[in-house]
Amino acid sequence: MAKKDPVKEYLKHFFEQLKKEYHRCYYPGEECTQMPCSSHSIQNRRILETLSQDGHVIMPQVTMDRDGLKIGFIRTGVGKASTFTGLCARHDNELFRLVDDCEIDFRNTEQLFLLSYRSVLKGLHACERAAVDMAASYSKALQLGFIESPTDTIEQLLSAQQFRKFKSTFDELYMSKQWDGVRHKQFALDAQRPTIAASSVFPPDVIIDVTKLPTDVAVNIFPIRDKTHIIFSYLRANESQAQKLFGHLDFADKYLLRYEISKLILSRCENFVLSPQIYNTYSERQRETIKNFIMQCHLNPGIIVDHPDLCLFPD
Ligand SMILES: [Zn+2]
Repeated sequence: MAKKDPVKEYLKHFFEQLKKEYHRCYYPGEECTQMPCSSHSIQNRRILETLSQDGHVIMPQVTMDRDGLKIGFIRTGVGKASTFTGLCARHDNELFRLVDDCEIDFRNTEQLFLLSYRSVLKGLHACERAAVDMAASYSKALQLGFIESPTDTIEQLLSAQQFRKFKSTFDELYMSKQWDGVRHKQFALDAQRPTIAASSVFPPDVIIDVTKLPTDVAVNIFPIRDKTHIIFSYLRANESQAQKLFGHLDFADKYLLRYEISKLILSRCENFVLSPQIYNTYSERQRETIKNFIMQCHLNPGIIVDHPDLCLFPD
C-alpha cells in the first residue's frame, strides 16, 4: 500500500476541522447542557429583514484554501446571517427577549447592555472556536512529525482565556442587573438608506499585544427608519482606553463620520452584513479596494490606509 503523504494528511485534517461546528451554551451561572441553537447576533426580524433583498444580505467571508487566505462577499440567507451556536433556544430567548421583541429605546440602559452582551457572547464563541481549531491543527502537526512553532496557538489560547474573563464580568453585571456597569457612546447618521448592520467586539487584550489598538469595546450598528445608529459599549473601568477608538468622531462632520465608521467596520469587525441594494452599487474597483483593505488590516493590524472607496455608505 502506498505511504500517505503527510502534507496532504495535515491539510485534509485542517480543512475538516474548519468545517466542524462548535456548540456551547454561554448562559451565565450554572453550566447549561442543552444543545445550542443557531442564534442571531444581529436582530433578525427588524434589522436583517430591513437590509435584505429577496431574503438575503451580503456578508464578508474569510476562507483559507491551499493558496492561502481569501476574502469574499457572499450572499447569505437572513436565517443564517450573523448566527452562532453559543446559546440554547431557551436561554437565547430568556436573555434577549427585551431587544428582540421590543423596539430599541436609546436611553434604556438594560437594552443597551443586552446588545453589547450579545456581541460579547458572539465574539467569545468565535475566539474559542479559533483556539480549538488551532490547537487541533497543532496537535496533528506534531503527530505527523512536523516542526511547527506553537506561538500562534498559544496566543489564540491566551486570547480565549482573556475573552472568558471579559465575558465573566458581563455575566456578573447581568446577574446583578448592574446595567450601568457598561457605558455607551452613541452616534447616528442621518437620512441613510439601510446600508449596514454589525455586532462585534474588539477582543480583550492579549499578553503579547503588538497592535496597541483599543480593545474591550463592543460595537453595534443598525438602521432604524432614516438613521443608522452606532453604539460603542465598554466596561466603566475601560473608558479611557475605549475613548481612543471613537474620541475623534465627536468632531467629525457627517461625511467624515460615514467614512471613519466604514473603516472601523472593515478593519476590525468580522461580523457585519451589507444590504445587497447598496452592495450592488459598488463598482468592481470599489469591491477590490474593500477586500484588499480587509486583508491588509488582517495581516498588519494598525496599518493606515485611506481611500474614498472604503466608504460603505451611499452619498
Ligand atoms: Zn442554555
